[in-house]
Amino acid sequence: MPDLGQRTGGASSDSKLNLLLGIDLEDVRDHIPGGSRYQDRLGFNVERILRFLDDHQTKATFFTVGLVARRLPGLIKTIADEGHELASHSDRHVQLNKLTPEEFSSDLKRSIDALEHVTSDRVSGFRAPTFSLIPSCEWAYDALVDNNLLYSSSVLAAKNPLFGWPGFGTRPRRMRPGLVEIPVSLHRTPLPRVPLLGGVYLRVLPFSLTRISLFRHNRELPVTSYIHPYDIDQDQERFMHPDLDGNHLMNWLMYLNRNKTLVRLSKIIASCRSWRYIDWLDQYSSEIK
Ligand SMILES: [Zn+2]
Repeated sequence: MPDLGQRTGGASSDSKLNLLLGIDLEDVRDHIPGGSRYQDRLGFNVERILRFLDDHQTKATFFTVGLVARRLPGLIKTIADEGHELASHSDRHVQLNKLTPEEFSSDLKRSIDALEHVTSDRVSGFRAPTFSLIPSCEWAYDALVDNNLLYSSSVLAAKNPLFGWPGFGTRPRRMRPGLVEIPVSLHRTPLPRVPLLGGVYLRVLPFSLTRISLFRHNRELPVTSYIHPYDIDQDQERFMHPDLDGNHLMNWLMYLNRNKTLVRLSKIIASCRSWRYIDWLDQYSSEIK
């Protein structure tokens, strides 16, 4: 794999791309009818991710739903104890457009309380379920500020069948004083503008396209990423995943190439400089307008 940082300088102290490593930590069974009848594999998969990160001597940000933090406090404490960042992924993984500002505010607070109950670190970040922070939900930034958060990584700056904010642009942007949005990084190929290092896209698209987009990525901007624990699970039972409207082709893709997720991520980590989101923000916050 070519050195992804060999072309220009940019914001990094060396020429490597800055990779923000994100894990979206939810139990997919919570979001399908009768999901509890399926095997609980969350802890097993998170432990695998932790060993992977340890093997690569790198730290990540776990965007975690409050529901999981209350159910598995020991696991969440292990994540924090190993030096990873805990950030909010809402309390019950309800998309923002289904909530009123008041409902969102209390959901967010509940999730932060759940995380801070098991770690002494302050929660600083948020990721909206399914990247559901769209223009009509911009009020959510006020709740993030009210809860002393410093950043969000909740915007998919393109048209998307689920949620998107096409005019947002690719740069991190200061949405309120003290609150930065770090949008998800997108492919830079003739493909539709889909997430570059996001779960199903990382697994399913040819890796050569991922490499091209990384090579073309503006080195002044970080590369954001997300995988879910199920993205590495080859033994998960078959069921229809949420938010797919029963689409069997899409659901087939949800299971495709799960054996490739960590292999590909390993190659990407080797060519980048990896950060927890909060550490990258600490370093570059003053450069964000
Ligand atoms: Zn999620």
